[in-house]
Amino acid sequence: MLGAKAEVRVRVSRSVVGDAEIDAVTAVLKRGFLGMGSEVRAFEEELAQFIGSERTVVCVSNGTAALHAALQASGVGPGDEVLLPTLTYIASFQAVSGTGATPVACDVNPHTCWMDVDDAAGRITPRTKAIMPVHYASGCGELERIYALAQEHGLRVIEDAAHAFGCRWQGQIVGSQGEMACFSFDGIKNITSGEGGAVVTGDPEIASRLQDIRLLGVQRDTEQRFQGRRSWEFDVTEQGWRYHMSDIMAAIGRVQLRRFPEFADARVQLAQRYQQGLGHCPGIQLLDIDYGPVVPHIFPILVQDGKRDRLREALGERGIETGIHYKPNHLLSKYGGGTVRLPGAEKVYQELLTLPLHPLVTREQGDEICRQVMQYMETE
Ligand SMILES: *Cc1c(COP(=O)(O)O)cnc(C)c1O
Repeated sequence: MLGAKAEVRVRVSRSVVGDAEIDAVTAVLKRGFLGMGSEVRAFEEELAQFIGSERTVVCVSNGTAALHAALQASGVGPGDEVLLPTLTYIASFQAVSGTGATPVACDVNPHTCWMDVDDAAGRITPRTKAIMPVHYASGCGELERIYALAQEHGLRVIEDAAHAFGCRWQGQIVGSQGEMACFSFDGIKNITSGEGGAVVTGDPEIASRLQDIRLLGVQRDTEQRFQGRRSWEFDVTEQGWRYHMSDIMAAIGRVQLRRFPEFADARVQLAQRYQQGLGHCPGIQLLDIDYGPVVPHIFPILVQDGKRDRLREALGERGIETGIHYKPNHLLSKYGGGTVRLPGAEKVYQELLTLPLHPLVTREQGDEICRQVMQYMETE
């Protein structure tokens, strides 16, 4: 019901593809090989070049698959516990439970919306195997403390960087440091391959294990496919999945990677416009993020005084679509149905409102959204 009356004029998020992507897909179709071949190899090389510092990129069918494969390659399995913030897309939780491990929901700092590292530290048990920070709204939070905690307790770190493609943290591009970062190239993320994802790692052994996991566990099939061949005589030593990327998807992704600077500019400019327009709005709290180094995937704001739902409705009536990222996962039946209380996340869940953010939101629309929010908060 909320905000559903008027026709949507400004969508909260959307895919931006054009003739270049269409031409690239057409070329693959004309070549007649649709599977995982030269386009995927080229996309992986270009991504590795973009991220730098001798990383290996393993492309997969989506971001959820990237997380699932990364967890498995880190040795996470049944009986293990994985710490992760409750305020994330359901994909993060499902990737953990998909390995047979138990996702342990951690609270978030209600001012930053990032994982509360002290809360996470308090949930470490002898079964804790890994920690999965989520780069919520494209910022990396207290990543240094998370790595320090992991080192102290011998935990693996898998970064859910689905929001943070192309972002910088402490001057370094996300994925270029640390253990493993997982990206999503879903239609509405910072770049898309239609559907797709990638794991980035600096560890050649993990990389090779990921390459096998994505092709049903068939050993070294990646090398064969990249040469246009298939493995007929092979061995399999562990459970794998059909998680590889196709050349059709990679062709879209390669064009999008070239267009990333254009997308990044548009996203950063709109986020800065929101920061200027709403920085002093009564009852509105913005996340403290330095846009520019951070290329935002979403723009959540916190609406205080119980006004969130009515503001959402008022914007909807003017054709401005908004979102709520996210319902905390510990409230879902599969993940405890609220038996654990996480007050920081439960508080922000009542206040979060995601404003439209994608490269096709115009300057005028950005200003109009600021005006509408201001007007509502000042008068209602
Ligand atoms: C999008 C997203 C994913 C999953 O990516 P898909 O490509 O949709 O499978 C995982 N985690 C977060 C935080 C996301 O936003």
